[in-house]
Amino acid sequence: MEEDNPGEGAPFLRYNLAVRVLVTGGAGFIGSHVVEELLRRGDSVLVLDNFSTGSEENLNEVVAEVPSAAGRLEVVKGDVRDRELVRELVEVSEGVIHLAAQPSVVRSLEAPVEVNEVNYIGTLNVLEAARGKGVKLVIASSSSVYGDIPELPKREDMVPRPKSLYAVSKLASELAGRVFWKTWGVENIHLRYFNIFGPRQRHDSPYAAVVPRFISAVLLGKRPVIYGDGFQTRDLTFVKDAVQATLLALEKGEGFSVYNVAAGSQVSVLELLNTLKEITGKEVEPVFAEPRPGDVRHSRASLEKIGKELGYRPRWSLKEALKETVRWYERAL
Ligand code: NAD
Repeated sequence: MEEDNPGEGAPFLRYNLAVRVLVTGGAGFIGSHVVEELLRRGDSVLVLDNFSTGSEENLNEVVAEVPSAAGRLEVVKGDVRDRELVRELVEVSEGVIHLAAQPSVVRSLEAPVEVNEVNYIGTLNVLEAARGKGVKLVIASSSSVYGDIPELPKREDMVPRPKSLYAVSKLASELAGRVFWKTWGVENIHLRYFNIFGPRQRHDSPYAAVVPRFISAVLLGKRPVIYGDGFQTRDLTFVKDAVQATLLALEKGEGFSVYNVAAGSQVSVLELLNTLKEITGKEVEPVFAEPRPGDVRHSRASLEKIGKELGYRPRWSLKEALKETVRWYERAL
């Protein structure tokens, strides 16, 4: 990784023909964990990232965790909206995990066109680049596509009802993926991730997710903000389980398919805060704010399909996963 180390500040636009897996968004939160696991199991990895929300530190941490990765990780700083670049990189890859996106519901209501350009057009570029190449794609979708469907658990065969333009960008990507499979035989598997959390997730952006916002507030002695009454629920999923599902999809996914990726449980935001208080031994009182537009009320995934077809089973309990995450933030903050 020496020559390609983004930490060196160079424009690291170098890649070779021996690359196996392309990970777009590989410098991000989920992406860096996927890259880490691919490297651990001996694969070569090519990352495409524009470092908008991802970071050099994430990849440096990966290399520190997997010293044997030297020479097997290459990084291209670029944009998934750059069709020619995406085509070149897919060409030299045997599998693609497409995670690059602007991942925020709130942001999508502020900048709907930009978010859809990155998320939807970026995905079209990846699908188009894979046409005729025989390469399998795993593509990040989101639980947000279910929107305000009241029934629980959410099953993949329900008719989606997106509440945000972020969710629309993910659903549009799924629909395009189906057409690419039916028309040109491009294999693409979409993963509807449910509230993924863990080390390296950003806590300091206005679009930060609930777990890193709460952990950083509790550790820094600040009052965590709860949007709404705190009784809204989430299917909180440890990033290592999300990685397991992602790599299973790459190995075993066939044709076109959509899968939920979650822990399969339902925790309220208030319960989450209480568990964090217990783990850290800190006493903090939350501040309540107006619910945010686009947020869904309740969320829990059915894992029947992914369990049966890909053999996915979540391995982490919420408490153990939160403990590991808190330990990381204690070092990082
Ligand atoms: P993240 O912001 O850490 O990762 C996104 C990565 O994509 C970042 O490294 C960013 O720099 C990169 N990126 C953004 N725009 C790009 C562009 N135009 N060109 C190239 N790279 C670009 O977020 P994450 O949580 O790791 O999300 C990864 C994927 O999973 C996203 O597609 C997101 O929508 C999806 N997802 C995440 C969650 C979650 O709970 N974290 C839930 C559902 C879906």
